[in-house]
Amino acid sequence: MAEYKTKEQKRKFYDSKAWKLLREEIKKRDNYECQECKRQGRVTIDTNEYSESAKRKKIMLVVDHIKEIEDYPELALEEDNLETKCVNCHNKKHGRYVDYSLWRKSTKWNDEWW
Ligand SMILES: [Zn+2]
Ligand SMILES: [Zn+2]
Repeated sequence: MAEYKTKEQKRKFYDSKAWKLLREEIKKRDNYECQECKRQGRVTIDTNEYSESAKRKKIMLVVDHIKEIEDYPELALEEDNLETKCVNCHNKKHGRYVDYSLWRKSTKWNDEWW
């Protein structure tokens, strides 16, 4: 059984082809809407805004593990354990404080966050 305890292990997982494919599947399944916002009667969808500094589309939606892979590695690729969330809801869940002005400026997306 794979483990996702260390940064290295997580990075490897988030870089894997299996995850990248599944991630898109889940977003499609969730209609590119934040499921948490939806529960609260709001609609937050993906944006097509392009970030010039990051040279990529601005990320609004992430696919979150309902049960974190650190604790439930066997659910890492389990569709029922995955949910589309906007970055705000995701950060709230994980209790992270994000300085968005800094975040937008950072050139490289940090997948470790998710
Ligand atoms: Zn949301
Ligand atoms: Zn998460």
